[in-house]
Amino acid sequence: MPKGKVYLVGAGPGDVELITLKGYKLLCQADVVLHDHLIPAELLQLAKPGAEIISVGKFAGQHTMRQDRINALLIEKAKEHKTVLRLKGGDPFLFGRGGEEAEACAEAGVDFEVVPGITSALAVPSYAGIPPTHRDFTPNVAIVTGHRKEGKEIEIPNAGTIIFLMGVSNIQKIVNSLLGAGWPPQAKIAAVENGTLYNQRVITGTLEDFVQIIQDAGLSTPAIFIVGQVVELHEKLNWFGKKPRILVLGTNPERYMHLGTIVHRPIVECVDLEDYSEFDVTLKDLRRFNWLIFTSSNGVRFFFTRLHRNGLDTRALGAMKVAAIGKATAQQLMNYGILADLVPEWESSAGLLEEFSKLDMQNKRVLIPRATMAPSELPRGLIERGAEVEEAPVYQTVETEPADVDFDHIDHILFTSGSTVRAFTKKFGRVPSHIKAYCLGRPTQTEAAKHGIEAEIITN
Ligand code: SAH
Repeated sequence: MPKGKVYLVGAGPGDVELITLKGYKLLCQADVVLHDHLIPAELLQLAKPGAEIISVGKFAGQHTMRQDRINALLIEKAKEHKTVLRLKGGDPFLFGRGGEEAEACAEAGVDFEVVPGITSALAVPSYAGIPPTHRDFTPNVAIVTGHRKEGKEIEIPNAGTIIFLMGVSNIQKIVNSLLGAGWPPQAKIAAVENGTLYNQRVITGTLEDFVQIIQDAGLSTPAIFIVGQVVELHEKLNWFGKKPRILVLGTNPERYMHLGTIVHRPIVECVDLEDYSEFDVTLKDLRRFNWLIFTSSNGVRFFFTRLHRNGLDTRALGAMKVAAIGKATAQQLMNYGILADLVPEWESSAGLLEEFSKLDMQNKRVLIPRATMAPSELPRGLIERGAEVEEAPVYQTVETEPADVDFDHIDHILFTSGSTVRAFTKKFGRVPSHIKAYCLGRPTQTEAAKHGIEAEIITN
């Protein structure tokens, strides 16, 4: 039996993709994951099925579990020969008592490793467009905790930039300490709330007006403060604040990353049909079709899963031609050893129909495996061109409860299918007026219009 081991892993500052490759791989393998309160849910979903996930929720002095209990649990689980991942916000050794947890392991004779993380102290300024050091401003930076035991002063180190963590409830004390240490009242200071996340806020001021400014803004945790001349660069370098924030409600959000900051809140899920008996009959005799058309990568996945369940594989397709709408669909086909014969440049049913207009489709037999309740534009267009069309439902979409989203921090909503439109209107009613809606393809736009949503079409 393998020996148990504890990995103290940094999860990064919030943006899920800022975990290290090593941390990610360990997360996929761990038997037990003990995580802090601030760890994003999307990250925890990457744990292997059946992994035990324990929240030891820790935030600004409020501990769901006492530190000695956390240490004991790490050791107990490792001694059960488990791979234990202690997932901590940012970097495990920068505040947050990672050092103490490592000590507890060492004292108990439990094997441990530390996987550093991207600390919020440096990543959050980056996302605010504030480089902590800069040749024109300062050659050094200090990182300081704003959380001190009752009565203890905050010591201000001698540095050109000072970054405070855990300081929200102590901001008056921080400002007083800075002034006391000789910083001028006009010195620049910034607060960055929810850094690296879609709802990041950057609030700037000077030491003399800042306490009032953040009070008026209702600043909450988590937040860091940055003090120093580098804060001036925020306006010029505010790259993250300029990216549109896009709420994606469907599956496969990675496809849209080039469009902006993706806020993924799946509202529908693709699942098996209850009954495949009809489709199984179709699968037994695929060779009678001339064309097989896939409209989404989900369709490809469910089609081949069912094909395999029937003891068949890609060879069952014989000489049939294959078409795909969208590069992602074509890419998914490659995973099953198929190079699509036709992928329209314009990624839509209309684009595919345009391509089929150039071919002789008279009496050609076409199979379209896709979702139940799919739009009719494609089959209708093919029938008009003389083809015999069989639509085969291979999966269905069901509604799921999306995690909370703050619409004040959303610029666009992307509807990727009719089912996302229906689920959204059912759950939220209307699209808030400051948000612009987009649809993937004309059938989705038609569905949106039916629900009173005016949306522009985007091509992927
Ligand atoms: N080990 C962590 C810090 C733990 S202390 C790290 O390396 O990042 C917790 C403090 O980190 C919070 O009080 C806050 O000041 C800061 N913090 C963590 N995540 C943050 C975020 N997304 N935005 C702003 N501050 C954050």
